[in-house]
Amino acid sequence: MSDRLHAVSRGALLWLGSRKNAQLVISRVPLTRRVARRFVAGDRAEDATEAIRRLNAQGVDGVLNLLGEGVTTSADADAAAAEYADAIAVAAGQVRTSITLKPSQLGLLFDAAGCAARLRQVAVQAAAAGLGLEVDMEQSSHVAATIETFLSAGLDPLPRLAIQACLHRSPSDLETLIGAGVRTRLVKGAYLEGPGVAIQQTGAISRRYGELSTLLLERGADPAFATHDSTLIDHVVREARRLGRDKGDFEFQMLYGIRRDLQVELARAGFRVRAYVPFGPAWYPYLVRRLAERPANLRFFARALVGK
Ligand SMILES: Cc1cc2nc3c(=O)[nH]c(=O)nc-3n(C[C@H](O)[C@H](O)[C@H](O)COP(=O)(O)OP(=O)(O)OC[C@H]3O[C@@H](n4cnc5c(N)ncnc54)[C@H](O)[C@@H]3O)c2cc1C
Repeated sequence: MSDRLHAVSRGALLWLGSRKNAQLVISRVPLTRRVARRFVAGDRAEDATEAIRRLNAQGVDGVLNLLGEGVTTSADADAAAAEYADAIAVAAGQVRTSITLKPSQLGLLFDAAGCAARLRQVAVQAAAAGLGLEVDMEQSSHVAATIETFLSAGLDPLPRLAIQACLHRSPSDLETLIGAGVRTRLVKGAYLEGPGVAIQQTGAISRRYGELSTLLLERGADPAFATHDSTLIDHVVREARRLGRDKGDFEFQMLYGIRRDLQVELARAGFRVRAYVPFGPAWYPYLVRRLAERPANLRFFARALVGK
């Protein structure tokens, strides 16, 4: 599929993902629920922990994620923080995993100070349980507030923060984060963004990802390269060798249900590999982003819409 057609179908899917009406219709279709199970471990933290246990047996660590985003009330943000506390208690001592969350899940969109307080609370609980913490990066309109809240929340140790290669601002953000000693997770970017804020062509995004990964291998602390793109994974391996980095100096991350073969292959080759394992009933926006990454999935969505 051409770059242009891919961009159009990706845009159509992500737009559908943001429409509440479409969500109500599509998420009830049994086929949608079945497809979601490929990418989502289940409704409960126990389901995710069980999935991570299976990954651990193959040499792959986990990144546990409670699905949810765009929370609009303090009560819902508190509930998300409480669910994270429960998930940490379920996973602690059972599996090799870290925890990752979305700032908008903890109230970033309406109360940055409250979000920072909840983030501190989850960070303390994760550290007490011996689990690492990571923070996802959401749409471009949330990026400035995310970085500001992250850096000013008084978190110790600092969690790892995701950075999206597609955004024009990311090289500058990465410099700031490297300067502050922040560990980062480099991703291409999963959201629908306009040309004013993000690179539009997939080839150019990959080139930018390659450049930023080299920068992170040169100067970043314990970077994570989150991609299933074999060309970029090869680039990271080559650049790490050229720069004299050990396999233990960085890690690869992939998503639950995607390129499992590659996850295990890299782990067997001695690389650190982590799989992002989401759970919870709020799976619809996550599923749409996963489907939008593959143009072939547009057909699936069309079928779901007409109820077939
Ligand atoms: C661990 C992890 C954490 C992430 N965190 C964030 C975040 O915080 N913020 C954010 O914006 N984005 C995040 N993402 C998503 C990321 O931005 C990309 O949208 C996603 O990883 C797809 O890009 P890619 O680099 O894998 O390359 P692509 O070029 O999209 O994919 C390369 C190959 O991987 C396979 N593949 C990729 N996606 C799929 C899929 N959905 N279904 C089936 N096969 C697939 C295909 O074989 C494809 O050819 C994260 C991704 C990972 C792996």
